[in-house]
Amino acid sequence: MQADAGTPTHCPYCALQCGMRVSADGAGGRPAVTITPRTDVPANDGGLCQKGWTAGELLTSPDRLTTPLLRERRGAPLRPAGWDEALDFAAARIRAIQAEHGADAVAVFGGGGLTNEKAYLLGKFARVALRTSQIDYNGRFCMSSAAAATNRAFGLDRGLPFPITDVARADAILLAGGNLAETMPPFVRHLTRMREAGGRLIVVDPRRTPTARQADLHLQITPGTDLALALGLLHIAIAEGLVDEDYIERRTTGFDAVRTSVSAWWPERAERVTGIPVAQMRETVRTLAAARNAMILTGRGAEQHAKGTDTATAFINLALALGLPGRPGSGYGCVTGQGNGQGGREHGQKSDQLPGYRRLDDPAAREHVARVWGVDPADLPGPGRSAYELLDALGTPDGPRALLLLGSNPVVSAPRAGHIADRIAALDLLVVSDLVLSETAELADVVLPATQWAEETGTITNLEGRVLLRRRAVPPPPGVRGDLAVISGLARRLGQDPAAFPEDPRAVFDELRRASAGGVADYSGITYERIEAETGVFWPCPAEDHPGTPRPFLDRFPTPDGRARFVPVDHRAAVEDIDDGYPIYLTTGRVLAQYQSGAQTRRIRALNEAAPEVYVELHPDLAERLGITAGERVRVTSRRGTAEGVARISTAIRSDTVFMPFHWAGDGRANLLTNPALDPTSRMPEFKVCAVRLERVA
Ligand code: SF4
Repeated sequence: MQADAGTPTHCPYCALQCGMRVSADGAGGRPAVTITPRTDVPANDGGLCQKGWTAGELLTSPDRLTTPLLRERRGAPLRPAGWDEALDFAAARIRAIQAEHGADAVAVFGGGGLTNEKAYLLGKFARVALRTSQIDYNGRFCMSSAAAATNRAFGLDRGLPFPITDVARADAILLAGGNLAETMPPFVRHLTRMREAGGRLIVVDPRRTPTARQADLHLQITPGTDLALALGLLHIAIAEGLVDEDYIERRTTGFDAVRTSVSAWWPERAERVTGIPVAQMRETVRTLAAARNAMILTGRGAEQHAKGTDTATAFINLALALGLPGRPGSGYGCVTGQGNGQGGREHGQKSDQLPGYRRLDDPAAREHVARVWGVDPADLPGPGRSAYELLDALGTPDGPRALLLLGSNPVVSAPRAGHIADRIAALDLLVVSDLVLSETAELADVVLPATQWAEETGTITNLEGRVLLRRRAVPPPPGVRGDLAVISGLARRLGQDPAAFPEDPRAVFDELRRASAGGVADYSGITYERIEAETGVFWPCPAEDHPGTPRPFLDRFPTPDGRARFVPVDHRAAVEDIDDGYPIYLTTGRVLAQYQSGAQTRRIRALNEAAPEVYVELHPDLAERLGITAGERVRVTSRRGTAEGVARISTAIRSDTVFMPFHWAGDGRANLLTNPALDPTSRMPEFKVCAVRLERVA
């Protein structure tokens, strides 16, 4: 097949949004699909990971839902229904619940994989059609700590505030809590280019992951102590006179307070807390300071903590002290995330947000967006609960009694997942739109079969802030509808003007452009035609003749005074430390061949063969102490529940820590164990560390 044959589009999974071409042979019924990587998309530059190569199998999965399902009363089985019947049923129940309990009795939960158009229309639907404040999304569990930290420091949250190709220009990179070799393998091409040109990679991770194995230096940290490490590194930089005084003077504010705040973090103290030897800390700082160009990147390992915002802030403080943000080839960024993790947090499906990254509590923002929506600003609800708080309140006397859920599977992916499943089961109404009968959809009263990536058109914004176009490449199976049609159909049944809730993604995007105009994430100059012609456009892009903004911090930061803000922060222990009853740390994460809750990837044969079941990775010393041998089943217990997995014994992990991937359902759910303690700023749960005990399953 020719390299340029097929429809140019993008992968359904992670935030790298690798470019691919999708060809369908079209012969007889559902098409067979061929996927080839694109070379014109810099993020993947001709590469794909195993998930991308096999994504076509999901289109023809025998598990696809092709008809709505309805459960008329609790305890009754789901039965097939027509679209009108299902939407009429859902709308009537929503009306009845709101009439009895008020507007906030109906909640909406979205996902970081939804296109910009879906995220935008879902936010509008919640505020205008439902008038509920109760909307949030699973991206809260993903990028929110880094987002809060970058907003605080730079006045703008864009995962990488520079093109991904800048990575190869760096001479040194510190990557804290990211396992790119497994989560987004084509990213490693950029790291490899950097290293082939003589650059050095330093990785912070409690596990010797495939990424850490490629590093020049691996800092094998105690889980939950990244913040103390960043404070110790800045202390060393100041003590050794390695900070960039000129940059600090010209481009920042607040350094003196931060200098004072890290003065007590002498290296030996940081070593005691983190387990990282002082010599390795000094080597890290000297490597970064000596580099012509250097980057500090954080991932979920550092961010998914009840102090994740402060941890990301501490690494930003270090980057600012070294003069990195805004220098081409240098900078701070956060990596990985869901497919539209970036765009999904810009256009209004967050509880406190309006389109264009506007704040819902800002009167001018409410005025602008209300004008675009043709409503009175006073009618827009205020901010609601964050994701975990929303899920935790479901079915309680003061919480929502109904939930509309798109693109998420919280029964597997939420922290303290057993409790969240109970809360969902306590609802009066659950409406789920999904491709397959996920573990959450199984609990629903109405299940709506959705189209997926290659069957629909829409924009996504990758981790660089580059707005891309996913194009429809194959027809959806008969009986399936897109999420925009679902939102539109429900809005119409709730008395809204159909013109205000169009099904056409281009019409939705044009309205999104107007709603985002003048906001931080300004898309008003971006059109489908420009995205196609330019292979993506970087926001902010305030006019059609504006070139887009690959590096938004070059001359100034988007703060009132144009300067980046140092913010003093201090270390605090993990919310739950180890003790006699729960003497081992648990950390969780992803594996190469599965994705998020696994609802999609567990249905792909090659991926299941590569990663068929949940495992518990533990050090040989710990295994010997507990009498556990490789391959036997072990039970892991935290204060919230019990999960089981197959023992995998490895020297790659610290002897005080076990690791479980979180892609599996049932009693293999790692999130049965995780701690929902929340970051006070971002409301991010503490996914990455809790205390557990281990035993063999009899
Ligand atoms: Fe898809 Fe991410 Fe793999 Fe690229 S790295 S092919 S976007 S899952």
